[in-house]
Amino acid sequence: MKSHRPLRLVIGCDTDPDRLDFGGIAFDRGTQPQTWAGLDRIPDLRSALDTIRDARGRAPAVTWFLRCDEQIRVTEGSYGAVLVRFSDLWKHLSDAGDEIGWHPHFWRLAKDGSTWFHEVDDEDFQTRMLEESFAAFEADLGFAPTSVRMGWDYHNNRSMQTLARLGVHIDLSALPFQSFAGSYNDRGASFAGCFDWSTSGSLPYRPSRLDYRIPAVSDEISIMELPQNLLQSSFSAFLSEARGAVRDRSPRRLIRALGPNRIVASTTVKACSPPFLFRSMVRDVLRREEDWIATYFHPDELLARKGSLINDLIHRLSYFSTNVRSVVRIAERHGRPVEFVTATEAADLLAHE
Ligand SMILES: [Zn+2]
Repeated sequence: MKSHRPLRLVIGCDTDPDRLDFGGIAFDRGTQPQTWAGLDRIPDLRSALDTIRDARGRAPAVTWFLRCDEQIRVTEGSYGAVLVRFSDLWKHLSDAGDEIGWHPHFWRLAKDGSTWFHEVDDEDFQTRMLEESFAAFEADLGFAPTSVRMGWDYHNNRSMQTLARLGVHIDLSALPFQSFAGSYNDRGASFAGCFDWSTSGSLPYRPSRLDYRIPAVSDEISIMELPQNLLQSSFSAFLSEARGAVRDRSPRRLIRALGPNRIVASTTVKACSPPFLFRSMVRDVLRREEDWIATYFHPDELLARKGSLINDLIHRLSYFSTNVRSVVRIAERHGRPVEFVTATEAADLLAHE
């Protein structure tokens, strides 16, 4: 029997500065200010999305997770520098029905000032930085953020508890069943990318105080976790290996990508990924009879990448609206009306389920 429950789509943006591949600054440039050309593409994206409607007649809502953290304080002059400098843009987006959330990274400058690294050992630094940034966010924008996506998808028990204590309603950092120990980063960071969601599934949950990765039994903390949607397929394994091989100029990786690929791997399907990948992810969600799709992107993915045909094929502005339209179309075919919601609206809906 077909379900008529709504399928809800949450689109998030990790509103980071331009990355190196898109003309940004490498992580070994110390205190050098960032570049933000990707933000210039946002009004065009907003206009394109405004031509689409969900089952209730609402245009796609985007939750803009803004950077307000130690790296922004050091490179841009204050925790809230990006909130203030682009305040007209954030107001324009809020007025359009979007949400302004928070995207704190745990970047920390090495003592000799040479390179940025992902601080995952010093939880006192993390906690203090979250508290100070949160206060600056509220002071500079006039309201406190209620939704978060963490930099590098990273969390630990204390960072999750800190967000809950600060009053954040929902976190969207989980990547179901994924973990990565972190490594040297080819964009100049001495260490980055560490996260552990190896025991988290794809369904929303209230995290356990003792283990942020799993639903609480009796020790829940007052925050909701909504995992991002991944596509699981051998083709996605090929694609991520092939991209890595090109990036690392590694013939061995390329051979591995082209070889018989029996491994079923997961890849993050972003809002501007190729439509055939995005459609597969949507069908997977509907097949599992789930009620949520959470996806995200970065502003620089709306720019052309320098000298990389493969990336230009993967991230295209035109894909974005095609993908959002396909959610509506495919879900309707399954008798599921689509509702576009912001992250905090998702938290409210989940709280009443
Ligand atoms: Zn980020």
